[in-house]
Amino acid sequence: MLWLLWWFLGSCLGSFLNVCIYRMPREQSIVRPRSRCPHCSHPIAWYDNIPVLSFLQLRGRCRHCRTPIHWRYPLVEILTGLSTVAVLERFGVTPVGLVYLALVYALIVVSCIDLDFQIIPDEISLGGLVLGLVLSGLVPSLHETDSRWLALGRSVLGGLVGGGLLYATGLLGDALFRKESMGGGDIKLLAMAGAILGWKMVTLTFFLAPVLALIPGVIVLLWKRSHVIPYGPFLSLGLVVSLFVGHHLLQASGVESTISLLLEYYLPSLRL
Ligand SMILES: [Zn+2]
Repeated sequence: MLWLLWWFLGSCLGSFLNVCIYRMPREQSIVRPRSRCPHCSHPIAWYDNIPVLSFLQLRGRCRHCRTPIHWRYPLVEILTGLSTVAVLERFGVTPVGLVYLALVYALIVVSCIDLDFQIIPDEISLGGLVLGLVLSGLVPSLHETDSRWLALGRSVLGGLVGGGLLYATGLLGDALFRKESMGGGDIKLLAMAGAILGWKMVTLTFFLAPVLALIPGVIVLLWKRSHVIPYGPFLSLGLVVSLFVGHHLLQASGVESTISLLLEYYLPSLRL
């Protein structure tokens, strides 16, 4: 029952995420006016705005102009509902769980906008970076400590490592291929995630994302003969994997213990 409630609340928020996905890249307000059909602009009544159920009841068409509603609307609602259940089940209805939930919501929005427009809005990446730093100070357990200052320090370090890794990769790519290879939006996105998840998880994501992007990248290359694929969705996927199993991956692979041994040896006073 609890899962169903979480899923329903999550999918209602997913309906709001759909509004953000549509309006943010078009520079429209996300609060006003209320939801309307993108085709005929007729406002959508509350009873036609119930997640997934309305889509089924209307057979995927606008009630007024009968234009098909994109399948991604219910998909985002379902996905947001499932993410809500997964995050709250794993991390609890705690400050940490809610911050992670907000991060996953942001990643859903970013991924869809990046797929559509190959951009990542600064409102989310830079806004999220600032919010991540503030929340780290307020909820130090995000960074596994009781000290607000240490949490803030780890948050800053996470942001620098996340942004820095992609920035350095971009510089390398520019030098090798003589054209822009890494978008500024991706750099800001990983900086934001680093401020919340810390430097270890964004480093892991840095290595996971290209692996996750490999097969879709090859398909796009062969199918559309284009080298351009939006990287945001793969960074997001890598971040979600890191969020849920990152610690296991680092421990099982021995990377975590190697890092702490090295740090203890070379930087005994620095407990990062
Ligand atoms: Zn319509």
